[in-house]
Amino acid sequence: MLSNTNFAELLAQQAERETGILSRAFRRAARSAFLWPVEVSELVAQNRSLTELRSVGPFISRQIQNWIDKPPRRAKAVPKIRRDFISLAQARRLLATQSTWANNLRGDLQMHTRWSDGSGTIAEIADAAAKRSYQYIAITDHSKALKIAGGIDERALKRQGTEITKVNATMSKSAGQVTVLRSIEMNLNPHGDGDMAPDSLRSLDLVLGSFHSALRKTEDQTERYLAALRNPHVHILGHPRGRIYNFRAGLKADWPRVFAEAGRLDKALEIDCYPDRQDLNVELLKIAGDHGTRISLGTDAHHPWQLEFIDLGLAAALRAKIAGDRILNFMPILELKVWAQRLRNRARFKR
Ligand SMILES: [Zn+2]
Repeated sequence: MLSNTNFAELLAQQAERETGILSRAFRRAARSAFLWPVEVSELVAQNRSLTELRSVGPFISRQIQNWIDKPPRRAKAVPKIRRDFISLAQARRLLATQSTWANNLRGDLQMHTRWSDGSGTIAEIADAAAKRSYQYIAITDHSKALKIAGGIDERALKRQGTEITKVNATMSKSAGQVTVLRSIEMNLNPHGDGDMAPDSLRSLDLVLGSFHSALRKTEDQTERYLAALRNPHVHILGHPRGRIYNFRAGLKADWPRVFAEAGRLDKALEIDCYPDRQDLNVELLKIAGDHGTRISLGTDAHHPWQLEFIDLGLAAALRAKIAGDRILNFMPILELKVWAQRLRNRARFKR
């Protein structure tokens, strides 16, 4: 029986055989397959239409039906650029077998709002978090150097802080007890330096640092990662490899060394749970697990509904057998804040 991950690969291969609009439609469907909430086989068993699925119209539906009727005899190897991605259907099945795991989750540590390139307001995404019974979320809009994503400068970040204070005041009066943490996805240059003034960063609860440039380099990038981890302002390294499904393979590094350094500094590396990122992936998470590296889960949500992507990260961590006490999002809020403050104090002593 073909799984949604198998269908994704078949769709991606079909896209490579087609041209123009058809190629794009197959490519889009391949990417969407990771988001389909149920397995295609289940839909078919329930006599439901495949066009219920995102990016599946009548044409693609017929193609999928052909594959169901006559499964391709020998599966072609999945190229690296599409390997080690979990589908939402698969993630949910896995999480259902270990319900205690997902129950540990208290929050989400990467999301974007209208302040940069997201579509919701802080209040809207906090509401979505309350519906998920979270204790906290971190708002991580892009920083000023990333102009293409509407990055914000120190003044805007300060104004955003005022808005967060107001949202927190309103939230504390409602039934759902979500605390909105002040954070940022600070753009890091390939030397590991950020683009925001230290004073501005010190006013935040947490700082996520991410690379958004020179992501197609093929040489080893270990030094870049070590520098980013040693940046005294960074708590969490976001979407570490910079891979994107069927688009970019991501950077190479001596990962055991990177994870060991993160461990030494007590910093965290992220699982960006966005379906076509899933970065760190299971393969690297296993190495991180061996080094006891702290792991942060962030959906990278750009719409409030995308908080559901967290299941992909939970499933990846579970598969890689990451210990629960290594996951930042399993910490109560106070413990999380203490950890963040401890890293800051440490950086101060070193100076
Ligand atoms: Zn990013």
